[in-house]
Amino acid sequence: PYSLGPNVSDYDARRAAWLAAHPRFPAMVAPERPRVLMVTGSSPRRCKEAEGDHVLLRAFKNKADYCRVHGLDIFYSNAVLDGEMTGFWTKLPLLRALMVAHPEAELLWWVDSDAVFTDMLFEPPWGRYAGHNLVLHGRDDEVYGARSWLGANTGSFVLRNCRWSLDLLEAWARMGPRGPVRDRYGRVFAAALSDRAPWEADDQSALVYLLVTERGRWGGKVFLESSYHLHGFWEEIVGRYEEMRSRWRPGLGDERWPLVTHFVGCKPCGEPGATYDAVACREGMERALNFADDQILGLYGFQHESLGTMAVRRVRNDTGRPLDAGDEEIGLLLHPEIRAA
Ligand code: UDP
Ligand code: MN
Repeated sequence: PYSLGPNVSDYDARRAAWLAAHPRFPAMVAPERPRVLMVTGSSPRRCKEAEGDHVLLRAFKNKADYCRVHGLDIFYSNAVLDGEMTGFWTKLPLLRALMVAHPEAELLWWVDSDAVFTDMLFEPPWGRYAGHNLVLHGRDDEVYGARSWLGANTGSFVLRNCRWSLDLLEAWARMGPRGPVRDRYGRVFAAALSDRAPWEADDQSALVYLLVTERGRWGGKVFLESSYHLHGFWEEIVGRYEEMRSRWRPGLGDERWPLVTHFVGCKPCGEPGATYDAVACREGMERALNFADDQILGLYGFQHESLGTMAVRRVRNDTGRPLDAGDEEIGLLLHPEIRAA
C-alpha cells in the first residue's frame, strides 16, 4: 500500500536525544508554552480567478500577523511534495516532512489557505492539550455518535511532534492516493458515514472515518475542541462583525469573537468545486480580512473606514510622546516576548 515514508519506530527517543543535545532549541519556550510551527500553503499554480492570488496574499498576511503577535513560526508551501497526494491531501506529506526536520517544534498547526484569523488576541489554551496529540474543532457526539463527516474540521488542526502523529499521518494518507484508491475510499466513507455522498475521498472524511472505525487506536489522543472556534464556519460569522465589535472584545475566540473564520466551500482561488455563491464568498472574505486587519492596524493608530473597503484612516492622534501609550493588551500584541516571559 501507499506510504508517506519509512517507519521511524524509535522516533520519540531520537527526538528526545536531539532536544537534549540542542538546549538552545527547546520544545517548550516557556512553562505551558510549546514551540509552535504554523503550516499553510496553496497550489503551485496561479489561481484561475483573477482576484484569487490577491486573496491568497491577504490571507497569508493575516496568518503572518497572527504568528508575529503570538511569537509562532510559520511555513508556507507552494509545492506538492508527492504526486499521489494532490489537492487537500497535500498537507499530509508536508506535515510529515516538516515534523521530522523540526524536532524543536513541539506542535505543528495546519491552517488552510481559506481560513482567516479573526481574533488576533486569543491563543489556544496549550496546557489543556498536554495529554493529547491532535486537536481539531469538532464534537464527540457528531463524530462518534452521528458518524458525520462534518463532525470535525481538518481546515485548522494542531498536531504534536511525536511517533503517534507519524503513525496517524501514515494511516490517514493511505486513503489519499489519487485515482482508484481515492475513488474507492470515497465509496467506503459514503457507506460508513451517515451524511456523505460517494465522491472521492477527502482528508476530513478520512480522519472522521479513522476515528469512528478505530476509536480505540486513536481516539484517546484526539481532542475534539468546541469551546472556541479553532475553525468557524464563515456563513454564520461574516454578517456579525460589526455587532461583535459593539458588544464584545477580542480575546474570546468563540462565537462572540471567533478565532478563525473558515471559508469552507468557497474556493477563493477559483478551483472547481465551489458550493456557495462567489459574490457572497468574496464579500465575506473581504470583511473577515479587514476585521482582522483592524485589530493589527489599531495597534499603530489606524482603522479601515469600513469592513468593505481597503481605505484606512488614522484613529489615534499622532503624538510627540509615542511610548507613553502603555495599554497592557496592546503591549502584549506589539511585543510577544513580554507574553512569552
Ligand atoms: N492546498 C495546498 N496545495 C494544493 C491544494 C491545497 O497547500 O495544491 C491547501 C490549501 O491551504 C487549502 C487546503 O490545502 O486551503 C485544503 O484544500 P481544499 O482543496 O480543501 O481547499 P479549500 O476548500 O480549503 O479552499
Ligand atoms: Mn478550507
